[in-house]
Amino acid sequence: MTRIAVVGAGIVGLATAWALRQHGAEVRIFESGAPGGGQSAGESRIFRHAHDDARLARFVSHSRQLWRTWSEVFGQPLISPGGAIAIGPGVPEKLKLLDQLDHVPTAPLNREALQERFPLVADYSGPAMVDLHGGTIHTLAAIDALTGALRADVVHDHVLSVRSTATGAAEVRTGTGAETFDHVVLCAGRGTAELAHGAGLDLPVQLSAHVRLAFAVRHPGKDPLPTFQDGSDAFGESGVYGAPSQDNRRYSIGLSDTTRPAGPRGLDDPAELNALTERTAAYVRRALPGLDPTPRGHVHCWVTTVPWGDDGVGAWSDGAVTAIAGHNLFKQAPALGEALAEAALTGVVPELLRPESRLGAADSP
Ligand SMILES: Cc1cc2nc3c(=O)[nH]c(=O)nc-3n(C[C@H](O)[C@H](O)[C@H](O)COP(=O)(O)OP(=O)(O)OC[C@H]3O[C@@H](n4cnc5c(N)ncnc54)[C@H](O)[C@@H]3O)c2cc1C
Repeated sequence: MTRIAVVGAGIVGLATAWALRQHGAEVRIFESGAPGGGQSAGESRIFRHAHDDARLARFVSHSRQLWRTWSEVFGQPLISPGGAIAIGPGVPEKLKLLDQLDHVPTAPLNREALQERFPLVADYSGPAMVDLHGGTIHTLAAIDALTGALRADVVHDHVLSVRSTATGAAEVRTGTGAETFDHVVLCAGRGTAELAHGAGLDLPVQLSAHVRLAFAVRHPGKDPLPTFQDGSDAFGESGVYGAPSQDNRRYSIGLSDTTRPAGPRGLDDPAELNALTERTAAYVRRALPGLDPTPRGHVHCWVTTVPWGDDGVGAWSDGAVTAIAGHNLFKQAPALGEALAEAALTGVVPELLRPESRLGAADSP
């Protein structure tokens, strides 16, 4: 039986291991911390179809189908039916792009329709839309379901090094052992570039840090709230995103801005995280009167971006080692898992994910 190692039990590693198991492979998932404790941490992520790169929008649309399958297999809805709202001057372009995709219903929203769907927001009359099959990913439920199904395959150990061997296999060295596999897939989030470097792969990943705050919804209703992206600058920020908790009682808000790229020793200036925190809370006071503006929870986390864009993603491969890097990968995880499983089993990365394809580039065809 083919034996594959996956390093990292975040959403991408778990999705890859899941897909490998569906193909009948024997899988070991190495995780040094708690599954879902890295970049995948915290409750809720946005599922949206709109991306600057139409190829990525199609890939994400395929991923939406796989999220439906996961929801059926695990017996619970993993994406809420609340929809994904976007406001700002980019809306007409997004609507045009999504119009070309099958099974991605959208609607423009006027001032009243926006208020009705998203009563937390202050008065706004600029361009707005809803992606009706977008919504909130129930991240904790997804991580729990996958971890439960793959529990027997998880090895709780820190991977120190990975390399291809002269015999065409791959070796994984951990704190407590050394083992050989037919292929290794690196899904280690902020640890991927470092491990890949040892395996002869040079990933152009940039690390920065990010903050997201949770706020109490003043008057929680029964209908699931939509996710929110504000590119309008109408409330003093032009890159803001938000998503509700599964019980509708909390709403998390983050700025797309991150700290300056980290140097080799990590964050240069921790005060930058504080500045992002204050800007986020100030935005909530201006834009979202439906929220109590006192932060009730924080998610701090590393962001890993590739040079061709904030939504960019790529997979690098050499010998028996494949590594994945990019940002905003939660929504894509089921489709990435499929693609990485294919790479591990065939030794060939699907063309769309090769770095030269620059998937997610804003200037792509
Ligand atoms: C606040 C925030 C908001 C976000 N919003 C969205 C959103 O709305 N929509 C969206 O799609 N995406 C969003 N993202 C991005 C998305 O969450 C990440 O891209 C995704 O979770 C990355 O998952 P991963 O499995 O690649 O990495 P991770 O979740 O970081 O998993 C990597 C795992 O590898 C383990 N590991 C690392 N090194 C080693 C080692 N040497 N040995 C063993 N184990 C190791 C780590 O412990 C970790 O558990 C957001 C991210 C953040 C932080």
